[in-house]
Amino acid sequence: MAKILCVLYPDPVTGYPPAYARDSIPSLGEYPDGQTLPSPSAVDFTPGELLGSASGELGLRKFLEEQGHELVVTSDKEGPDSVFDRELADTDVVISQPFWPAYLTAERIAAAPKLKLALTAGIGSDHVDLDAAIKAGITVAEVTFSNSISVAEHAVMQILALVRSFVPSHEWVVKGGWNIADSVERAYDLEGMDVGVLAAGRIGQAVLRRLAPFDVRLHYFDTHRLPAEVEHDLGLTFHPDAQSLARSVDVVSIHAPLHPQTYHLFDAGLIGSMRRGSYIVNTARAEIVVRDDIVKALESGRLAGYAGDVWYPQPPAADHPWRTMPHEAMTPHVSGTTLSAQARYAAGTREILEDFLTGRPIRDTYLIVNGGELAGTGAKSYTADGSASPGTGK
Ligand code: NDP
Repeated sequence: MAKILCVLYPDPVTGYPPAYARDSIPSLGEYPDGQTLPSPSAVDFTPGELLGSASGELGLRKFLEEQGHELVVTSDKEGPDSVFDRELADTDVVISQPFWPAYLTAERIAAAPKLKLALTAGIGSDHVDLDAAIKAGITVAEVTFSNSISVAEHAVMQILALVRSFVPSHEWVVKGGWNIADSVERAYDLEGMDVGVLAAGRIGQAVLRRLAPFDVRLHYFDTHRLPAEVEHDLGLTFHPDAQSLARSVDVVSIHAPLHPQTYHLFDAGLIGSMRRGSYIVNTARAEIVVRDDIVKALESGRLAGYAGDVWYPQPPAADHPWRTMPHEAMTPHVSGTTLSAQARYAAGTREILEDFLTGRPIRDTYLIVNGGELAGTGAKSYTADGSASPGTGK
């Protein structure tokens, strides 16, 4: 029987379960590329419930305990006295999430001799030291595509929030004001602007598709060029590198994985090459940009705005400068954990567990590391060269 250690973000301060705003969520047929939705044998939750916080338990307890497995769920993940560190020693499976990441460093992997599966309930496994997982023979899997569209919608929202100066306008209303000039002194239309994405994978492409009707000029850089018909349909300009993209756009939205090639890519040099008054939106990973270079560029006016949904570390300190820098539209890491997304990644987590616990192969598209090497989606997205994974703080 297996011990499963699951790290989830804390419950709402107002208690669990919350009062839900809606009675149901739409049911989808398949993902945009034809990939089938998660297909576990069953689920023990109602789609639309809060599953991603500690009491939600990803809807896994009944299924696991009926089969005699042990499930430990905690939000306490930092420091040697944390529940996470204390429970790790005899754990077979760790389930963690990018929103509230249990950083699986080489040291923690060394302290978990029984660990066989590190499962990301979502997308993005850079909080796992992939080199250490490869060496230890640990399988790393994530629920590919489960929240890609959720993130794409959030990125489009943050682009509009920045360009149209939504946050300051909203704040005037809350403060009891009617300060139209104050609200619009930094507000523009997106129409006609050059908008680019760094990486046109599942999320980046979904952002491009959603932005096309805004009558903007669309640009992208990805390590692999999209098919000519996609470029033609969306009117895309391809750039040979991130530098060319950055200097050609008014808005850049980042959708690349965090790995050595993207770590600290947006530094003072690259930001300095952008048009004055550009906007950066980053729903990918915080370490793709240099934290203090973003702050300085906003203060100097080089950047007109920065909106991000990802921070390092998570949760960030109360005095993290991105909480108070000017012209920001930051969110805590929420883009990929809407109630809609939770239903999909909870089902995908169960599908992966069902396969793992019965010795069936895990879907190739869910695999990041398997059999001592990068596999499946991981072989396309990550690099195992001894210098990764920057997301674990190395
Ligand atoms: P995909 O794997 O579908 O797409 C990633 C794309 O990035 C691929 O097309 C890949 O190219 C490209 N790429 C890799 N390295 C580079 C590089 N150095 N420069 C330019 N392009 C590069 O992933 P998703 O779109 O699903 O997710 C992207 C990232 O978004 C995830 O890695 C994760 O960090 C983040 N994410 C954030 C979430 C949130 O809640 N905020 C939720 C989900 C994901 P190719 O494969 O062709 O080489």
